Amino acid sequence: MGLRGSMSKEFWHSGLRFSCQQCSDCCRHAPGFVFLSKLDLKKLILFLKLDFSLFYSKYLKQVDIGTGISLSLTEKPNHDCIFWEAGGCTVYPARPIQCNTYPFWESIIENEEKWKAEATDCPGIETGLLKDRSSIEDSLWRRRRNKPIEIPYEMAGEGLDEDSILGGSGVNSNANDT
Ligand code: SF4
Ligand code: SF4
Repeated sequence: MGLRGSMSKEFWHSGLRFSCQQCSDCCRHAPGFVFLSKLDLKKLILFLKLDFSLFYSKYLKQVDIGTGISLSLTEKPNHDCIFWEAGGCTVYPARPIQCNTYPFWESIIENEEKWKAEATDCPGIETGLLKDRSSIEDSLWRRRRNKPIEIPYEMAGEGLDEDSILGGSGVNSNANDT
């Protein structure tokens, strides 16, 4: 067994077909959450060259996930992602890991039934290029190493700043580059 463990019995051990058709459905039209890891937050701030507090107030919302508070990108009134524009994702080079690794999430490739169910929402699934097992494992690994920020309830609310979120030891989320 390697460092990452054996996954040879997964239904996707021979790879899965996926090619984004650029329909933008996963970025638009319906309410949703794009949760950020610390690394995502750092990359977006650098990419947009914005001050942390300005980025926070303009692009982030707090979401109660039951065990703490996570940070999601805001949406436009029509439920498009705040970063979607007519040409597509305006922060594409710095898009969050949640976006970058879709649809190779544990929850989607947990079994073949879930994978096929997801294909009803995403026309890129089961078409085009074969993603091999190691690149699927890489997506899973990157998500595990960069989990969404989770702020303890007692820290949420007033007073959250760059230090408390990105540097604070009380905020759960690692920030490992990929
Ligand atoms: S729904 Fe699927 S095909 Fe459409 S943009 Fe998203 S990933 Fe690409
Ligand atoms: S950040 Fe970009 S890729 Fe992610 S949901 Fe928003 S527009 Fe889509």
